[in-house]
Amino acid sequence: MTAVQNMPSRDPGQDAACRSGQLIRERGQHEVFCGLTSIMWLHRKMQDAFFLVVGSRTCAHLIQSAAGVMIFSEPRFATAIMEERDLAGMADMHDELDRVVEELLQRRPDIRMLVLVGSCPSEVIKLDLSRAAERLNRRLAPRHRVLSYSGSGIETTFTQGEDNFLAALVADSGAQPTQAPPASLIIAGCLADVVEDQFGRLFRDLGIADVAFLPSRSSEALPAIGPDTRYILAQPYLGATAAALEARGAKRIDALFPLGEEGTTAWLKAIADSFGVAPALFNRITEAPRQRALSAMAHYRPWLEGRKIFLFPDSQLEVPLARFLYREAGARIVEAGSPYLHREHLAGELALLPDDAALSEGQDVDRQIDRCLAADPDLIVCGMGLANPFEAEGHVTKWSIEFAFTPIQGYEQAGDLAELFARPLMRDVILSGTRRPAPGGAA
Ligand code: SF4
Repeated sequence: MTAVQNMPSRDPGQDAACRSGQLIRERGQHEVFCGLTSIMWLHRKMQDAFFLVVGSRTCAHLIQSAAGVMIFSEPRFATAIMEERDLAGMADMHDELDRVVEELLQRRPDIRMLVLVGSCPSEVIKLDLSRAAERLNRRLAPRHRVLSYSGSGIETTFTQGEDNFLAALVADSGAQPTQAPPASLIIAGCLADVVEDQFGRLFRDLGIADVAFLPSRSSEALPAIGPDTRYILAQPYLGATAAALEARGAKRIDALFPLGEEGTTAWLKAIADSFGVAPALFNRITEAPRQRALSAMAHYRPWLEGRKIFLFPDSQLEVPLARFLYREAGARIVEAGSPYLHREHLAGELALLPDDAALSEGQDVDRQIDRCLAADPDLIVCGMGLANPFEAEGHVTKWSIEFAFTPIQGYEQAGDLAELFARPLMRDVILSGTRRPAPGGAA
């Protein structure tokens, strides 16, 4: 299901700070997946966690259809479906929830962390899941830990589900008794295991120790946080997580996001500088992977160079993706839209966008479609709900949710990131022959 509602604007006074290009503020209808969607990648990452959505049949349908492959294995998510008598207030929801949790833990005693995920229905009837988590924790800890966060479609986009979950993890880690010394560096943002391993090796080679990833693969490996902890965002949509980390005393390292060779180098360099790594060592360690990234991207650049690309607001990854497309692939950015622009976290990215690219915040889908059609871009990056109608009209599209699911961060994934954009253009040339010849004879 897609959530469709009005989206309020935020931070009205901060526009001028970011860049000289055109900024369009939209407050109309938006069409994005809700925060439950993030369970699809979070459950793969944290392998001893179980996500229990407290929602309706619609919520159950969303997560079952979005993760259809899970029917072949023991899933690590489910929906506690609220029936009509629950919604009508005829049953005590907390009693009902306790009963469902008890049944679940009897069947799955291996669950170490149980995550109660709020939905639109649970929020509408004001079911307080944080209170439920506290109550269940008193009964179930230390064998099971219980957390809660909101994944509802009310005023969120799907990546905010991850943001809310990570913020809940940070708050929870403060409540846990720990003997472990605080991490010196926290990488905040869900990364594929393969990307985490690559960054882990680079940090080790750079001599940076006590690095923790948030979320960790195990609920028992959550980092301790202290006033000497520094953190860096690996994803651009983590405003609540950043605030939670800072509330615990961690200091943010400001950087571009690790997309493409330029972004990854800038991200690693900001960390290296913060930890006093000698420039010569940094250059020696990063030289070979940088060259691999450049050569992998060079293969796809002819497909993207000079292409007009329009990015609809969907995942909040749009600004770093637009920077990558413009700076490293030579594409022309018609418009980069984002459901919400965190100006402080995106300051470096915004400064590198071309001045002639429109930047939009929020959504008014009809007006954006009009602008997109008027510009007639070569490639439209948008949600699934818009992609099919655009394709039917002969436009080439890319689903933006793929950038949340696919490992795209770091040097070794830079070529894959370029390929994600190039592939629909290549497919279009193959299918339609002469309709959109590839620039520079790349076909
Ligand atoms: S949380 Fe809301 S938007 Fe998401 S599936 Fe449930 S009802 Fe739909």
